[in-house]
Amino acid sequence: MAARLAACFKSLRSSYNAEGAVSRWVCSQPVRGFMGTATGKGVLEKATSYDVIVLGGCGAYGSAAAYHLAAAGAKVLAIDMHAPGHPWGSSHGGTRIIRLAYFEGPEYVTLVRRSLNMVLDLQADTGKDLFAQTGVLDIGATYQGARAAAAAFGLECEELCGAEINRRFPGYGVPEDMPVLYQKEGGLLCPEAIIQVHCDLAVRHGAVLHRGRVTSWRSLGHGPASGVEVMTNTGESFTAGQLIISAGAWINQLVPQAKMLCVPERQVVAWFQVPDDMFNKESFPVFIAGERLDGPCYYGFPKHGKPCGLKIGCTHQFEPGRQKSAADPDVLGRDLQPEDEMWLRHGLKTFFPAAASSQLLAHSVCMYTNTPDGHFIIDRHPVHQQVLLVSACSGHGFKMSPRVGSLLSDMVQNGARGTDEARDELRPFWLNVERPGHHKFLQAFR
Ligand SMILES: Cc1cc2nc3c(=O)[nH]c(=O)nc-3n(C[C@H](O)[C@H](O)[C@H](O)COP(=O)(O)OP(=O)(O)OC[C@H]3O[C@@H](n4cnc5c(N)ncnc54)[C@H](O)[C@@H]3O)c2cc1C
Repeated sequence: MAARLAACFKSLRSSYNAEGAVSRWVCSQPVRGFMGTATGKGVLEKATSYDVIVLGGCGAYGSAAAYHLAAAGAKVLAIDMHAPGHPWGSSHGGTRIIRLAYFEGPEYVTLVRRSLNMVLDLQADTGKDLFAQTGVLDIGATYQGARAAAAAFGLECEELCGAEINRRFPGYGVPEDMPVLYQKEGGLLCPEAIIQVHCDLAVRHGAVLHRGRVTSWRSLGHGPASGVEVMTNTGESFTAGQLIISAGAWINQLVPQAKMLCVPERQVVAWFQVPDDMFNKESFPVFIAGERLDGPCYYGFPKHGKPCGLKIGCTHQFEPGRQKSAADPDVLGRDLQPEDEMWLRHGLKTFFPAAASSQLLAHSVCMYTNTPDGHFIIDRHPVHQQVLLVSACSGHGFKMSPRVGSLLSDMVQNGARGTDEARDELRPFWLNVERPGHHKFLQAFR
């Protein structure tokens, strides 16, 4: 058996060139073996080798990557401790905004455009509800940034003020002179359904979805072609040529040095009872609204699915000094606190005064994983080049996940940072000493 395992690892390594690119996909059969434990006692375990292991395979990024890799012919193991569509990470709650006039920076626009096209294709192919075009309003704080991105890409938008918005969309009660950018093209995505579709397609293309919690991983040698091994809480061990760590808010448990860079933050959204005619998908665009960029910013959705109400969330991550201590994703407070409701009602009062005292129908708690500059981190591990670090999406990453999934597949297939296309689109998200916090993070590996 030891000889079979050694042969398996050898075939695995020989399939990667010096850049870590796949030179041919390995199609080795699962190997079952009797492996020793640290205590010296033997346990019956399954040792299986793959081209790629996707850690977090039922999350937004992991499921997209698993699908594209499997579709490209890779032998993929997607491991997740939860099932697709679960409510314990960062990708639940029924809806996510997709907007093209991106106030966070024009570097995102191509990713968003391509993601939207991919979702539309998936929607047409599967017949599932994955996207609804409602239009998008950038109200107040995000108006300037959204306008700049729209101008840079020639996106069709209308520059309006609160009074005009309130007339056109009677659910809104925005302060009358507040600037508003209206873009017809965006709308809402259905995160659980998109993840489920990605998982289904990954499996259809031969990926293995494995339920388990990864407790640790290690390189099997030096250099990008050396492969990795991951261990789970049930004592299983799997090997692969490359590993994608797309663990969302749990990234620090798997890459402890990332603690200084990736800070999970508790986020609360709630649904309020509102009249149907003014708050449905035809009459009420999704929105981001704030009085100042360094103050609380609100975002929300028309009635869609269940709970059937106006959904509103409040984000504080732009506020200087507001960063709370990092949330622990394993013991996150899931109850609604009075302070949570106070902030959400403050948003209703400012932008939807008619709904300010509406009945609260339900709430949901989720997590952002914030970086110091609010931008993503998508790159190879600084030391273990066969490992890709993904996510830390600072609360705005769902909309790009379909496209980024295909670019991760590109990186795995082509080695290093992938083809020119992948490099062009992902360059802003590479580890880079010029970005706040990155120097310290990279130093931690010296
Ligand atoms: C309230 C809220 C509102 C948001 N609104 C928007 C929006 O409108 N538009 C937008 O684009 N983005 C939005 N975002 C951000 C977006 O949803 C996230 O950036 C994105 O979903 C993160 O995806 P992910 O794959 O990194 O994490 P996740 O989808 O959480 O996936 C991580 C996965 O890793 C698994 N995992 C972790 N550790 C382990 C382990 N040790 N072993 C096995 N499995 C493991 C988890 O179970 C999970 O399935 C919002 C986020 C929140 C919280």
